[in-house]
Amino acid sequence: MAQDCIFCKIISGKIPGDFVYQDDRLVAIRDINPQAPTHVLVMPRRHIKSMADLGAEDTELMGHLILVAHQIASNEGLADRGYRLAVNHGPEGGQFVRHIHFHLVGGRQLTGSLG
Ligand code: 5GP
Ligand code: ZN
Repeated sequence: MAQDCIFCKIISGKIPGDFVYQDDRLVAIRDINPQAPTHVLVMPRRHIKSMADLGAEDTELMGHLILVAHQIASNEGLADRGYRLAVNHGPEGGQFVRHIHFHLVGGRQLTGSLG
């Protein structure tokens, strides 16, 4: 756990989060500032700062994350309607929290634009 990381604090229960999924490796919480009716952040429990900090040993973890994200989307009623799963990396990618997380967004018509 990183002492100054907001997501580590949520994962460890130091500050509250609205959890929609938890297992031994991952958690998913609702975004505090949702951009759509469903806006969930799916992330590893381990403090991995960004895409650049992933190694080959994380292949299974990240594959698990993608499968869990789709399961959460299904639970939210989005499997057939559709949704977007996105990760922001670095300053130009719009990453503000330096604990890797995937945005699961849906429940409204999303535009084609990613920027
Ligand atoms: P980023 O821009 O780093 O990809 O996304 C960070 C996301 O974390 C933003 O969508 C922001 O609303 C969300 N966020 C920031 N602080 C908190 C918090 O304390 N709790 C929750 N649930 N989400 C947060
Ligand atoms: Zn962290």
